[in-house]
Amino acid sequence: MLEKVLIANRGEIALRILRACHTMGIRTVAVHSTVDRNLKHVAMADESVCIGPAPSAQSYLNMPAIIAAAEVTDAQAIHPGYGFLSENADFAERVEQSGFVFVGPRADTIRLMGDKVEAIRAMQAAGVPCVPGSGGPLGDDPEANARIAAEIGYPVLIKAAGGGGGRGMRDVRTEAALATAIATTKAEAKAAFGNDMVYMEKYLENPRHVEIQVLADGQGHAIFLGERDCSMQRRHQKVVEEAPAPGITPELRAQIGKVCVEACLRIGYRGAGTFEFLYQDGRFYFIEMNTRIQVEHPVTELITGVDLIREQLLIAGGEPLSIRQQDIELRGHAIECRINAEDPDSFMPSPGLIQHYHAAGGPGVRMDTHIYEGYRVPPNYDSMIGKLIVHGATREQAIARMRVALSELVVDGIKTNIPLQQRILADGGFAQGGQNIHYLEKKLAERREKALSVL
Ligand code: ADP
Repeated sequence: MLEKVLIANRGEIALRILRACHTMGIRTVAVHSTVDRNLKHVAMADESVCIGPAPSAQSYLNMPAIIAAAEVTDAQAIHPGYGFLSENADFAERVEQSGFVFVGPRADTIRLMGDKVEAIRAMQAAGVPCVPGSGGPLGDDPEANARIAAEIGYPVLIKAAGGGGGRGMRDVRTEAALATAIATTKAEAKAAFGNDMVYMEKYLENPRHVEIQVLADGQGHAIFLGERDCSMQRRHQKVVEEAPAPGITPELRAQIGKVCVEACLRIGYRGAGTFEFLYQDGRFYFIEMNTRIQVEHPVTELITGVDLIREQLLIAGGEPLSIRQQDIELRGHAIECRINAEDPDSFMPSPGLIQHYHAAGGPGVRMDTHIYEGYRVPPNYDSMIGKLIVHGATREQAIARMRVALSELVVDGIKTNIPLQQRILADGGFAQGGQNIHYLEKKLAERREKALSVL
């Protein structure tokens, strides 16, 4: 059992990890940048260390500073949260080489999954269904690339092997556009990820994003905890997530879940992880594995009753998985709305002082946030300031509860996307369920056109 954990993150997830630690009697160390002294979890942690100035490259991405903070505070383990260094294999390696436990998979697993070309190869070998694609990196021969595209069939998607966060992707509809698209994606990938390797996949026209949550102890046990539907996206970024995914039958769930569990055992996976799939015409296509806790993990927690961060900490402490597959029972329906400090129409970030904050409440309502009245949202980081999550006996009840919760939630002083979330929750198509990943973008485009035609 771990005794002291350093939380190498900020914001709501740092607070979420701190809460799990304190519930388990684990002491905590918060690390923070100079602009983050007033974060809620910093005040609540047993100890805190300032690790650098506001830019994340000098603080939350500063490996020596974080490891030094673990050394001076005598922490035993480091929890990376999501984002920042959570999927950085070099960091995981350095943490373990310095004698600390990394709360996550082994460094070589992170490295494997961080290279999407290698990840797809490994998953194919493990029997996981993948998107038809090049099966490897694209070379410089335009004719060879054109042959690969013709074989896959247009439209195709050029993707960066080292990509992430919805960046480094370009769809191509004709052979004439192929060579330029590959060159541009390569150049962008080089600049953004320091790796210009790209590969090709069939571009699925109307898939849903459905992902499977897994837990594995690296000691021969793995389970899956149902799926989440994250199809409400803008610019490949998730906006609303829910569990279970509408229309996924128990048989289909059991089938894909078993495939993921077997893949975990095969690669010796350790910790919490997510298999991301595109789901179209009743079939699953693997796109990537996230080797960390996800932003949207609470919807799974609400329908399974499992505290995923607690499980991560138990696994990191060397405990074998105590939950068996037959213990996992899905109850009701959960929805999460990401609350961002941004203009709900232009999506421009809106940092600043929170003058009033009023949380939503009531049965089945959970708010994961670090904000409070008088807190200043710094301009330096991601604009997500919290997550409103609800649980209901049915999807209809969850939607009704979310509508009320959104109407109660007050964040004044900055702009937030609450009005956008209210529009989504009031939308007939969303109420129907099972919309594809382009649905939200299409709705937003319609709204923009309408606004223009009014002028
Ligand atoms: P990232 O690591 O940047 O999140 P992913 O591979 O997970 O990249 O893809 C992110 C999103 O891009 C998906 O949720 C989906 O919306 C879209 N996408 C990815 N691959 C395809 C594909 N082959 N066809 C259609 N859309 C795709």
